[in-house]
Amino acid sequence: MNPIRYKDNNLFIENLSVEDIAKENKTPFYCYSDQFINSQYDNLTSAFDMDIRVFYSMKANSNASILKLLLNKGSGIDVVSGGEIERAIAAGASGKDIIYAGVGKTDEELRYAIQSKIHCINVESQSELERINDICEELKTKQDIAIRVNPDVDAKTHIKITTGKAENKFGIEFDYTNSIYNIAANLPNINITGVSVHIGSQITSLKPFKKAYTIIYDLINQLKNLGHNIKHVDLGGGLGVPYSEDETIPTFLEYANLIQSIFGNTNLKVYIEPGRLLLANSGLLITKVIDVKTTSQKTFIIVDAAMNDFMRPTLYNSYHEILPVRNNLGTSNKLYDIVGPICETGDYFAKNRKMNSVKPGSLIAIKSVGAYGSVLSSNYNSRPQIAELLVKDYEYAIVRDRIEVKDLIQQEKIAHWL
Ligand SMILES: *Cc1c(COP(=O)(O)O)cnc(C)c1O
Repeated sequence: MNPIRYKDNNLFIENLSVEDIAKENKTPFYCYSDQFINSQYDNLTSAFDMDIRVFYSMKANSNASILKLLLNKGSGIDVVSGGEIERAIAAGASGKDIIYAGVGKTDEELRYAIQSKIHCINVESQSELERINDICEELKTKQDIAIRVNPDVDAKTHIKITTGKAENKFGIEFDYTNSIYNIAANLPNINITGVSVHIGSQITSLKPFKKAYTIIYDLINQLKNLGHNIKHVDLGGGLGVPYSEDETIPTFLEYANLIQSIFGNTNLKVYIEPGRLLLANSGLLITKVIDVKTTSQKTFIIVDAAMNDFMRPTLYNSYHEILPVRNNLGTSNKLYDIVGPICETGDYFAKNRKMNSVKPGSLIAIKSVGAYGSVLSSNYNSRPQIAELLVKDYEYAIVRDRIEVKDLIQQEKIAHWL
């Protein structure tokens, strides 16, 4: 059963009514279902009939409780910055649980990663490889690495989240992979252990995965023939989620079968790095209607959440279902634009959307906000970042406090000459 559903026309998340949660918490706020994340993880891993290891891509949602929940289930963590390593460790990860990807890793970040004895660094350039070798020299240690390969495959997703085409900044250009593995093999402090690939996000067809994974499979055979000891393949994340009921996405089983058909008979350890898949549909953004304003062209529902709280519609023109928390407010044939109060035309959550009648004070819920939601938030317009709640059964915990305006003010200093 979906933990986010109506009961007697009242929206529930697990066994709590959203309206009741909102009585105790200032809107807007995020809330996530513990059960949903658990079952996504379980359904994904049990779809495989082979050993795989999940490294949750924490940039999707880096809240400490989310990390702890997934670590408790045996997940590793895929990070993209030194800050994420620090957060993962603070949430209880050990170095061996962490894989580090990212196109621009500073020396400071690399040193921190190496000192933290992380499982693997996915290297994205020759100079990064050499810098890792030098830092290891200094620290008298060795580091396991994989090379992130750019297979030049079009993931057919949003232009801002496609990463596996030759023109993208990510990974090592395919024609150059043999030489970089040879260079790596000759660096004394580098241990080659794998190959990694990640072609993009919100991918809704298996075709690009099949193409990329087949290329990687062939590449690994070639590298093995050249004498490289490739022990693991890291297939990245990117499997999409349904943001609306009529969107069809490959099932976990189809995805698992594809991976199995390509890598099932190898003795490689297979890693996957899902982010969005585990979190997106676990979360709601609860917001209150401030005003309903009709102009000669449009009717706007103005809510107390804004693009600084949830940026995906602004950034990716993404579609999110919007639900009234009370579903018995009467239907309306009107189309609404649901917008935030920020002074930017891009500050909207939905355009020309059918909604039940709502009025100032009504609560509404924006769906599928668990991934790339809170993590993208800012304090624009001096709007402090909002709280995050984790719901489990009949209870909830505040897993991130609201920031207060006074906290923002405190971080700033008046220049001494003023
Ligand atoms: C962002 C990212 C992921 C996760 O992508 P999703 O679409 O959220 O599954 C995995 N691996 C790497 C290297 C990433 O940058």
